[in-house]
Amino acid sequence: MNRYQYDIVIVGAGHAGTEAAAAAARLGAKVALLTGNLDTVGQMSCNPAIGGVAKGQIVREIDALGGLMGQTIDKTGIQFRMLNSRKGPAMHSPRAQADKKAYQFEIKRVIEETPNLDLRQELVEEILTDPSDSHQVIGVRVRGDAIYAAEAVVLTTGTFLQAIMHTGEAKTPGGRAGEGTSSGISHSLHSLGFRIQRFKTGTPARLNSRTIDYSKTEIQPGDDNPQPFSYMTDRLPDPQMPCWITYTNDKVHELIRANLHRAPMYSGQIQSTGPRYCPSIEDKVVRFADKDRHQLFLEPEGRHTNEVYVNGISTSLPRDVQDAMLRWIPGLENAQIMRYGYAVEYDFCPPDQLTPWLETKAVKGLFFAGQLNGTTGYEEAAAQGLIAGASAALRLQGKDGLVLSRDAAYMGVLVDDLVTCGVDEPYRMFTSRAEYRMMLRQDNADRRLTELGYELGLVSDARYARFQSKLIQIGEATKALRALRIGDVPGDKYLKRPEVTWQHLTEQYPEQLQCYSAEVALQVECDVKYSGYIARQQIQVERQNRMADKSIPTDFSYDSIISLRAEARQKLGKIRPINLDQASRISGITPADISLVLAYIENPKLRAKQPNVAEVAVQSNSGRTAD
Ligand SMILES: Cc1cc2nc3c(=O)[nH]c(=O)nc-3n(C[C@H](O)[C@H](O)[C@H](O)COP(=O)(O)OP(=O)(O)OC[C@H]3O[C@@H](n4cnc5c(N)ncnc54)[C@H](O)[C@@H]3O)c2cc1C
Repeated sequence: MNRYQYDIVIVGAGHAGTEAAAAAARLGAKVALLTGNLDTVGQMSCNPAIGGVAKGQIVREIDALGGLMGQTIDKTGIQFRMLNSRKGPAMHSPRAQADKKAYQFEIKRVIEETPNLDLRQELVEEILTDPSDSHQVIGVRVRGDAIYAAEAVVLTTGTFLQAIMHTGEAKTPGGRAGEGTSSGISHSLHSLGFRIQRFKTGTPARLNSRTIDYSKTEIQPGDDNPQPFSYMTDRLPDPQMPCWITYTNDKVHELIRANLHRAPMYSGQIQSTGPRYCPSIEDKVVRFADKDRHQLFLEPEGRHTNEVYVNGISTSLPRDVQDAMLRWIPGLENAQIMRYGYAVEYDFCPPDQLTPWLETKAVKGLFFAGQLNGTTGYEEAAAQGLIAGASAALRLQGKDGLVLSRDAAYMGVLVDDLVTCGVDEPYRMFTSRAEYRMMLRQDNADRRLTELGYELGLVSDARYARFQSKLIQIGEATKALRALRIGDVPGDKYLKRPEVTWQHLTEQYPEQLQCYSAEVALQVECDVKYSGYIARQQIQVERQNRMADKSIPTDFSYDSIISLRAEARQKLGKIRPINLDQASRISGITPADISLVLAYIENPKLRAKQPNVAEVAVQSNSGRTAD
């Protein structure tokens, strides 16, 4: 049997796997990135777009930590828009249409050129653990009987585990159209004691652009002054391509209702839960029965293809119904389907089986990231990939894994929500999930994360130098603003007024202010205008941090706290929070429960009464107890 030796093996080269591999390699680990098909590295399974509300903020954070997604979409985007630009800065969210193939090729090129990183086409069939200690991963076995030995393995297998695709009554094994499924890993996970559940997701048909009558649709152009995702990008591709808008109507809804018995979701063929906020068209027609139309976006899949993605009409209805639906939609009456829509059901591992750095509690050195953790979306997957890959490398260096706090990043909110609360439907990010939204803006991701990224070794010298120079500029611009006098009022006080903007001041005082870039000006303006909100949020953060400082020992026995409610004992024992802050966010845990745990942590006499530490550690690490 062939045997290859690496520090870290990453399984799957989707959005999570590529970020994980690149992050681990940046931290100096020798990494193998193994994926079933080299032609689908970084492939977008569904819509050809990156970013969007809350997701755009995540891409900016990935970029601020030196990740791949931001720079890649900047190079390969065909249309850029800042969503919610009329709302406050916390809601501004960048989104771009991608040239899907160009995006994929660019990710693959970067991966191929990354030092310490080998990309290989391999189908992983088994996770290997130490024969003398099944709680320690030692590598993977691939099809063709070769072994990749490693001290850490990061699984990022997306929608592929025991996957079944549905189009009407037709069922085909596979995680994505034209691709196979992966069952060996599910068996491995099962035999290692992991809980596994099923989710489903779906995708719409792709049409031939030549058969669409765009004169019956509304045009949606990109922004006049498009903004990049990456802090390293100076220029975006030109020209931008438009998208188009059309609508469903009563006729379409009638047709869908008449065929609901043929929709796998309604016929009982699919039993698992799908993404609530990305419903199929059949789901929308049933759930929003009072709506007489639904908006559809026609999104080009790239500059060199005629394929058009129909955003808003994801479906698993049979082919004949998909064809018939189009006949009633303005502009699509003669449209030809190039790929039919379908739904896919797949295995995922409930993420409450993970630590806050995405290592499994049951098997040391084994990390999970991406859709495998019950999330949905490229950005959510990429964010987890970066955290898992970086953490795997850091742990091998004997350091702590990468844990971002909820006030530092949406990425922190994402991972904390997953590991603390688990999921009961595919998890996607929303701004409403973050309690410190005003601090987690898309514009200040570098100020929140780049310093940390540089300290860890994730951020290049070039990126850091650029960031430092921006900080200097922000400092100087702030000083220049404070030095201004408008009447008796200092410039910063004047700028606080709702009707005044930096732009107004620059027009009045060009000599003092015009030299600063729009990027720098935005930082100063936000700092000044929102200092009150931010200071209030900071007080809350400090309160939370005091709780976060109260670590809970890994061997802590909740069973020994007699007065702790049974529900609290069971939930705390299952999640095993790392500190009181995380414990306080577990659903059903009350302030009284927290006080009791705190009393035990702080009182050495009570702690001494806890059972034998080694015994408890084995129990707590096994993670094998039934749900
Ligand atoms: C049909 C469909 C519809 C979707 N709809 C939406 C949507 O509407 N909105 C949304 O936000 N997201 C949607 N998604 C989800 C989105 O595609 C994922 O969230 C995202 O791609 C997850 O990234 P990932 O890296 O976790 O997994 P993926 O991008 O799926 O990558 C997984 C990788 O693992 C590889 N792999 C799997 N098994 C093995 C193995 N045994 N050995 C080696 N390699 C392996 C695969 O080849 C692939 O490269 C959809 C996905 C599908 C398939």
